[in-house]
Amino acid sequence: MLGLAALPALAAATPAVTATVQRLHLKHTWTTVMSSSTFRDVLYVKLTAEGITGRGEGAGIVRYGETAEAGVKFVQQLAPELAGMDLRHYGKVTDWVRQKSPGDWAAKAAVDIAIHEWVARRRGLPVHALWGLDPQDAPLTTFSIGIDKVDVIRQKVREAEAYPELKVKVGLDTDEEVIEAVRSVTKKPLRVDANEGFKTKEEAVRKINWLETMGVISIEQPMAAHLIEEHRWIRQRIHIPMIADEACLRPADIPKLADAFDTVNIKIDKAGGLLQGYRMIQIARSLGMKTMLGCMISSSVAITAAAQLSPLVDHADLDGNLLISNDPFRGVRVVNGKLVLPLGTGLGLTSLPASH
Ligand code: MG
Repeated sequence: MLGLAALPALAAATPAVTATVQRLHLKHTWTTVMSSSTFRDVLYVKLTAEGITGRGEGAGIVRYGETAEAGVKFVQQLAPELAGMDLRHYGKVTDWVRQKSPGDWAAKAAVDIAIHEWVARRRGLPVHALWGLDPQDAPLTTFSIGIDKVDVIRQKVREAEAYPELKVKVGLDTDEEVIEAVRSVTKKPLRVDANEGFKTKEEAVRKINWLETMGVISIEQPMAAHLIEEHRWIRQRIHIPMIADEACLRPADIPKLADAFDTVNIKIDKAGGLLQGYRMIQIARSLGMKTMLGCMISSSVAITAAAQLSPLVDHADLDGNLLISNDPFRGVRVVNGKLVLPLGTGLGLTSLPASH
């Protein structure tokens, strides 16, 4: 034995917040212009007070140097102070969390989601009811097809039969063969995401004009995030809506994007939580922009949390939970391509047996 009896007994006042790393396994190797992987580690947060638990999840974004392990440290440092706070003032508390460090946005999002679920469960409501939203207004979601060999892409498209709109990653030398492979299997509307992959504005326009002829209905982040002027130039030369993703992290980013992009892709992991996501939707709308909710590879905790805001947006790309094989929960579902929010208080999650 390891001398367990010698360990001190747990104190009565255990921390109200816990953070752990959860490994999510991908059904297919996931490749974008940025990375390629077979699994993702995410941060899980549990917050318990008055016998009620709220759950949250955040997927640290590699591009911003965030990891699940660093997220655990951030939450552990936060926990003692957070334990003494009055969660009824949850807007104030989540804003306090967001100013605790310059980064850690996914970890902040996980804490924010857990707080929102706790408040909603405490009030006996689903999270979307905190904003007075109608779950019937939830939009269509796209299903993402990762970059792969042509025969695998065809197979992925066939597997996505149930989804009326697909999202395809582009921004590599293989774009033409990838899109042609998709088009050999389906006539569905396609949305494409270049993840900053086009190197010049001329290349972007040439590629996008070709994509338009292939039934592509929107283009996401053609060039590097900071190249706002180039995106304005591109927008004047294309005929489909252009979406800002990497250029749109948090509320203050949106005004400068208003005449360079048509739509902003809001992700709770980038924004630092649901409250920030809500604010971003309102700011974008007030500037005449369209909005969408995107996601990282995540389980149903984070995806269902984002879906709680989805009645406010024009379309969604909330499929991160559909790409993994060991989702611990069932939450939001996709029926005929439309997001269907679960019944039940908080996030409305039900546990699933462990699987891979
Ligand atoms: Mg994107």
